[in-house]
Amino acid sequence: MASPLPSKDWHTVDWQDALRQLDVDQSIGLEQEQISDRQASYGKNEIQGKSLRSKFSILLDQFTNIMLIMLMSVAVISAGISLHEGEFPKDAIAIAVIVILNGILGYVQESRAEEALAALKKLSAPNVRVMRAGQIREISAKELVPGDIVFIETGVQISADGRLLEAFNLRVREAALTGEAQAVHKSATQVCATDEAIGDRQNMVFQGTEVIQGRGKFVVTATAMKTELGKVASMLQSVENEPTPLQLRMNQLGNVLVYGSLSLVLLVVGIGLLRGGEFLSLLETSLSMAVAVVPEGLPAVITVTLAIGTQRMVKRHALIRKLPAVETLGSVTTICSDKTGTLTQNKMVVETLYTPSYMIQVSGSGYVPTGEFTFTRNSDDQLSLNITIDDCLELRSLLTACVLCNDAHLQQDESGHWGVVGDPTEGALLTLAAKAEFEQTALEAKLPRQAEVPFSAERKRMSVVCQSNQSQIVYSKGSPELLLEKCDRIFLDHEISEITARHRQNILSQNETLAQAGIRVLGFAQKEIVDPAEQFHESAQATEVIEQNLVWLGLVGMRDAPRLEVADAVHTCKIAGIRPIMITGDHQLTAMSIAKDLGIANPSTQSMSGAELEKIPDSELDQVVRRVSVYARVSPEHKLRIVRSLQRGKEFVAMTGDGVNDAPALKQANIGIAMGITGTDVSKEASEMILLDDNFATIVAATEEGRVVYTNIRRFIKYILGSNVGEVLTIAASPFLGLPEVPLTPLQILWMNLVTDGVPALALAVEPAEPDIMRRSPYSPTESIFARGLGAYIIRIGIIFGLLTIILMQIAYSNSDTIFMPEHWKSMVFTTLCIAQMGHAMSARSDHRLLIELNLFSNPFLLAAVICTTALQLALLYVKPLQVFFGTQPLTGTELAVCFGFSMLVLVWVEMEKLVIRWYMGRKHQRG
Ligand code: ATP
Repeated sequence: MASPLPSKDWHTVDWQDALRQLDVDQSIGLEQEQISDRQASYGKNEIQGKSLRSKFSILLDQFTNIMLIMLMSVAVISAGISLHEGEFPKDAIAIAVIVILNGILGYVQESRAEEALAALKKLSAPNVRVMRAGQIREISAKELVPGDIVFIETGVQISADGRLLEAFNLRVREAALTGEAQAVHKSATQVCATDEAIGDRQNMVFQGTEVIQGRGKFVVTATAMKTELGKVASMLQSVENEPTPLQLRMNQLGNVLVYGSLSLVLLVVGIGLLRGGEFLSLLETSLSMAVAVVPEGLPAVITVTLAIGTQRMVKRHALIRKLPAVETLGSVTTICSDKTGTLTQNKMVVETLYTPSYMIQVSGSGYVPTGEFTFTRNSDDQLSLNITIDDCLELRSLLTACVLCNDAHLQQDESGHWGVVGDPTEGALLTLAAKAEFEQTALEAKLPRQAEVPFSAERKRMSVVCQSNQSQIVYSKGSPELLLEKCDRIFLDHEISEITARHRQNILSQNETLAQAGIRVLGFAQKEIVDPAEQFHESAQATEVIEQNLVWLGLVGMRDAPRLEVADAVHTCKIAGIRPIMITGDHQLTAMSIAKDLGIANPSTQSMSGAELEKIPDSELDQVVRRVSVYARVSPEHKLRIVRSLQRGKEFVAMTGDGVNDAPALKQANIGIAMGITGTDVSKEASEMILLDDNFATIVAATEEGRVVYTNIRRFIKYILGSNVGEVLTIAASPFLGLPEVPLTPLQILWMNLVTDGVPALALAVEPAEPDIMRRSPYSPTESIFARGLGAYIIRIGIIFGLLTIILMQIAYSNSDTIFMPEHWKSMVFTTLCIAQMGHAMSARSDHRLLIELNLFSNPFLLAAVICTTALQLALLYVKPLQVFFGTQPLTGTELAVCFGFSMLVLVWVEMEKLVIRWYMGRKHQRG
């Protein structure tokens, strides 16, 4: 049926009618042919959100930068002077061209950055679980069409509008649509009046809203711009494009440079006039100084570096959602990580069961449903018993609970590989049951689910109510200690009896034995409700009643092996001065065992439970967080307290999270990290970064990239600004040395700042990580970009640059007509400043290692940049049209040799500095 479906007030029809009108059977879903037809009619399920920042406003923004405004003023004054002197305003035009080029470059870079971020956002767009052609599948939300049957659960962001078919305790936050922060309770059975407001349509779900609790199923009624959200698409958040801390600091730097150079100009002009200098020539000097001080190439280099940083991170499976994270990641001092899935593989395999009478070992691997059960009597001496599953009623009840108190599905793909759709913990339980030939579909048909209390990280358990012939049976599973408290009976030796203190003690010690071996343990319980008056018919029953007076069934222990690469990553973290902390909902002993395996904890490490944490005030917690590296049985709100406390202790915290309720902690953390695979859409929305592989080692890799980005930014800033200071000093000195004119024209200065400085700087931005990058402590994110000697370096090298060039200038000028050709002194100054920067670029690759210690080819871009830039500089001297345009002279061999000689002195100086610093550090180390 290719024709559009009738547009309806879907909230006014019952769900059976909705299915009929949409021509779909909820147990099969749409067939492939219907899907293709509807995709052709309705297109992709995409909202054309508020357009990104308009192209024009991005372009305009480029020219509001204070440095460019100064350059434009210089162009106007320079044009005035040229016209006054009857000359062609070459410099003014060149400056104008550079300003425009710079604007275009900035524009291209910024639009690219915006598009890249938008693309990254799309990459993190949610997948949805649908029923299609009789199979549950995971598809991209953009593929949805009207009539699709979609499953939703806690934490999911709803991807289309739909009529509910099922709702179990379903609560949805519709703030994105209605502005109402309070979550709304939903029900599939309601039929609403036509004029019901959107916020009151309890039987509908809407795109862009978030499931806060519960589970449900809906049939898609509208997609893309036809949804309620589509109708108000402008409300959609546009891509966030906050300036990074560095960009903010660069703006401040711009101010300092502009005001600093204006003051210097005033000083030079003032002193010059007092000494009887000519105003016009002093004005020319000032204009050159103003051009020299502006690092025209810098903004573009920074944008490129950040963009390259995000690309490198994506390659290492870390998706950046907010640009500042690229540079601030390098400052992380503490990583708080979940356990399951991040530190461990999240591939659960049940190994051991405890029913009240037996300990049962189960063989098998992965989700393949074949394995053997070996029985041992609990109380005695480990002798294996000859019991079959059919004989053991205790085990049969436990396995029934495993299947029915479960939302996952076990599936075999075309290649015969077994996998789980849903929570791996629940997948392991289905695999276990399947090994005993307990079939999910048959059991669910026999005992259909009537109601449920869903799992949440706070409650640490879930329950379902199933209908049998006359009675209802409640099945519960969850954290053993908590569930045991809800039990007053036990299923032992084929009958239900009172649970005694001794039983409880035995169960808890079985739980501890498993947990100590790093095994994840779940407890199971059930109860039968025979009295019709007490039975449940609606999904939203009082949860407390459902989970009272339960009958204990047993424990199920599953192994979740640590990820192989994590132990190394933890080691790297520790050397890099980053403290890894495990925060888990699991048992304290399981957590400690795994933390020890991974090196997060050692035998003396303290651990703390959520219950203990709750009892202490913030002041005490601030002391405790310094020592505790493992937090167990915590709830999401505990995570928030832990982050805040660490931050009060001046830690820069990266924190992982996956659940809806983790969002506040993720927002509070300096770097919130969501899980790409298991994370809820809500947690992704709240985070700065998404781990595409949910892996702890990826956080460490991203941190390393963050450090590389920050180090490279500092590297090219010191490289570029050092040269600017040198240029300014050389120009400022010329009137005082009695030289007839300024050695550098604005055009030549622009050439240096953009090409001979800019191109090698770009190559420095891709400099590979120094080997010790993860062997030093993290730098404070609030430190100034000039901290740790960078400011002093720029001034020092700037002065050396300036001095060497001034000496060369003086020698060249005073020997014009003798050793050197007349008029060539200016081109010699120009060439020396350019070539000196080539050596400086090579040397700036490392702060400590000498140029000869570095592999010349490890940054081939820099090598190419240096060779090309030197060739271009020579072209400027020897190619006639370029000579004319840039006002250069063809230097003689001697002159060129002198220029190269002086240039090399800068390189020699920087290398000597490294030696001195190394010697000094070595002595300090020896003394310390
Ligand atoms: P982490 O917080 O490191 O991811 P976790 O997976 O153990 O570890 P949660 O998912 O919050 O943390 O689970 C906390 C506890 O709740 C588990 O230790 C387990 O006892 C119980 N639990 C986990 N999954 C389920 C489930 N599907 N049904 C019932 N109880 C569960």
